Amino acid sequence: MKSIFITSLLLFNFFSSAQTDQKIYDIINSVSEDRIKKDVKILTEFGTRNTFSDTVSNTRGIGAARRWIKNEFEAISKDCANCLNVFYQKDFVTKEGNSRVPHDAWIVNVIAIQKGTKYPNRYIIMSGDIDSRASYTMDFTTDAPGANDNASGMAGTIEAARVLSKYKFENSIIYVGLSGEEQGLFGGAGLAAYAKEKGWDIIGILNNDMIGNIVGVDGVIDNRTFRIFSEPVPPTETERERNARRFYGGEVDGISRQLARYVYKTVKTYMPEMNPMMVYRLDRFGRGGHHRPFNDLGFAGIRIMEAHENYTQQHQDIRTENGINYGDTFEHVNFPYAKKLTAVNAINLASLASAPPAPKTVAIGGIVEPSAKLKWDKVEGATGYKIYWRDTTSPTWDNSRYVGDITEFVLEGIVIDNFYFGVASVGKNGHESVIVFPNQILRN
Ligand SMILES: [Zn+2]
Repeated sequence: MKSIFITSLLLFNFFSSAQTDQKIYDIINSVSEDRIKKDVKILTEFGTRNTFSDTVSNTRGIGAARRWIKNEFEAISKDCANCLNVFYQKDFVTKEGNSRVPHDAWIVNVIAIQKGTKYPNRYIIMSGDIDSRASYTMDFTTDAPGANDNASGMAGTIEAARVLSKYKFENSIIYVGLSGEEQGLFGGAGLAAYAKEKGWDIIGILNNDMIGNIVGVDGVIDNRTFRIFSEPVPPTETERERNARRFYGGEVDGISRQLARYVYKTVKTYMPEMNPMMVYRLDRFGRGGHHRPFNDLGFAGIRIMEAHENYTQQHQDIRTENGINYGDTFEHVNFPYAKKLTAVNAINLASLASAPPAPKTVAIGGIVEPSAKLKWDKVEGATGYKIYWRDTTSPTWDNSRYVGDITEFVLEGIVIDNFYFGVASVGKNGHESVIVFPNQILRN
């Protein structure tokens, strides 16, 4: 009797450890609302963080703001035996040819890299923005506290670094403050090009832009829903890949969309009280964000943000007009919510940084057969693989089967025509890679 009990307990442990990791719950609990609040306050007190504002003053302008951010990352690094490599990455922009650039300036990003123990050249990135703006985009002197847009994302990124620097991960994590967002996504473009030049293997970027507003201009108050924006397929795909989609599918299965689904699933697993809302588009209608320049170069990237925006508090000079208080000020930020969205990022960074690489090639076959066959390349560091499938109309990977440490499998009785399929690598700790949509066809 006793031995049966022990056996079943062990089985339970085996299965439960394959599902969840206690470390992820600890990470959620370690995110501090107070620290995020304190950092947003400090960022708003630089007056304006417009990319073209003063760089000399130590109390006002973007120069002071970026030096403060760099100091924060360095202080975090000191607390983890110098586990972060902190530096500026910069590019020069000129007034000439840029209609929203008031004068030539350096676009300076602040970068902190936590090197992976096993795959130092594989990176998962979390970003926020350093810069803010007033009503008029060329105005670099008027106060622009940018509390929600985007001190919230910046403070969340710093806080994620504080929490995750207490752990070691197999893959590298980059925490970054990007600049020049408001005048043309310059900082993101600069860092994406830098990554390409350095040959960084980028798992993806989680770009955070406005993660602290819960009172929407639509009158809805909601502190549990947030949006994950992702483009359907990369803009870098070839004509051949585009043609293949007509016959094999994949219109909504690009690499950024798989990253969005990964975040969705991680949140549903570890923070089921939250409502992640996948939005099937690059960004808001006609508006942009710093994940886009990464997408432009073929990297996976998504935007994480509040579900309900308030436009009287975005890109507005501080003023009262017709009884409405305009301006992106500190009081409007909801810090319990910013804390939750920071935790959303932290658990996804931790999961992806703990996971083995995804299979590079996934082949699928099963034309006019009763079963679907999948074959993939072996991944060093993976202990097994998981096949996912879903109805063609479903946004999420609803069905899965762990198949162990093999490189091909036949899903008996599952007709290839009626579902979409994908494969993920699984590590010894149960963490999974992003799912790979088939990129080759198996012919008999
Ligand atoms: Zn903005």
